[in-house]
Amino acid sequence: METSKVKFLERTLMGPGPSNIDPRVNAAMTRPIMGHLDPEFLKLMDENMILLRKVFKTENPLTFPISATGSGGMEAALANIIEPGDRVVILVNGVFGERMADIAKRYGAEVKVLEIEWGKVFSPDEVKNFISKHAPIKMVGIVHAETSTGALQPLEEISYIVHNYNSLFLVDTVTSLGGTEVNLDQWGIDITYSGTQKCLSCPPGLAPVSFNEKAVEAVNNRKNPIISWYFDVSMLRKYWETGERFYHHTAPITMNYALWEALKIVEEEGLEARFERHSKLSNLLQNALEALGLKLLVEKNYRAPMLTSVLIPEDISDLDIRGKLLTQYSIEIGGGLRNLKGKIWRIGLMGYTCQKKNIALLISALGQCLN
Ligand code: PLP
Repeated sequence: METSKVKFLERTLMGPGPSNIDPRVNAAMTRPIMGHLDPEFLKLMDENMILLRKVFKTENPLTFPISATGSGGMEAALANIIEPGDRVVILVNGVFGERMADIAKRYGAEVKVLEIEWGKVFSPDEVKNFISKHAPIKMVGIVHAETSTGALQPLEEISYIVHNYNSLFLVDTVTSLGGTEVNLDQWGIDITYSGTQKCLSCPPGLAPVSFNEKAVEAVNNRKNPIISWYFDVSMLRKYWETGERFYHHTAPITMNYALWEALKIVEEEGLEARFERHSKLSNLLQNALEALGLKLLVEKNYRAPMLTSVLIPEDISDLDIRGKLLTQYSIEIGGGLRNLKGKIWRIGLMGYTCQKKNIALLISALGQCLN
């Protein structure tokens, strides 16, 4: 009797994430399980923190992977900073900004949303005007690489404005980390969260976060306890950062092995070389898509190197093409979300997937499907 219909297929993952992972990361996950307080595992936790600081370009001691996916990182960041009644500004130009605003509301914040057309990025002036209208504000949140559109938001000038108003600056680096420059300390990012399954090329399941001194001070000065038990960094840091190794929860051992291996691979390649690879190959992909007669959603200067959004020609069926790519070529690309549903394809070139041979495969397959 048939017990399962599941097929475990080898796909070329060129959607918005997860990306393919290096065989070394796969192998790392078969290593024997240790206890989560085993001295050897504690060493691995320490090394993961050191390696994450390098990728985030920060000295922040409180830099560690939350045991959750990127959305868990988002929730952890917001839950620790927001107290009921706090006024915060969330800058929305896609799905993940919307999600940030939703979570902030659930934690009791008075949320002021500045929303612009999806696919566009915020100008420092419009952010400044909006903040000045609503100040004082505890925190301003923004997404670096908005995965629902493929727009890459410049952050430095906005960070300067946010700090002029004495607010904390929270940035979503889920899709950008490991694929383009993310410089927490130089850019004045107070809190960030990321995910493992995009440009770090590790499976989904951990959310690297980093809180700087100002953010930790905000947590320490709270008048109310953090509503979430699981995401309370004042407890989590006793497990991860302070060396107390105070039992909080059982860290996902295998995922931490995978992250360690993935971060070692990033270190061996070198961050700048990795950014250069993403930048060069995304140009190659974009030129090839345009040579097929396709148009791109985001203006050239603001395209995220790890994710390109293509406008679907009017006479073409979104589902038909994505279905053919998946079933005939085993290539996954993403469709549009919300108001971009049926209007765009999202093509990822993240981490291990970001290789010339994958671009060649996709362009030839897409060319055939469109004919
Ligand atoms: N933020 C951004 C920019 C994302 O792209 C994603 C996932 O695609 C998330 C947050 C949420 O991450 P996850 O799906 O891992 O919970």
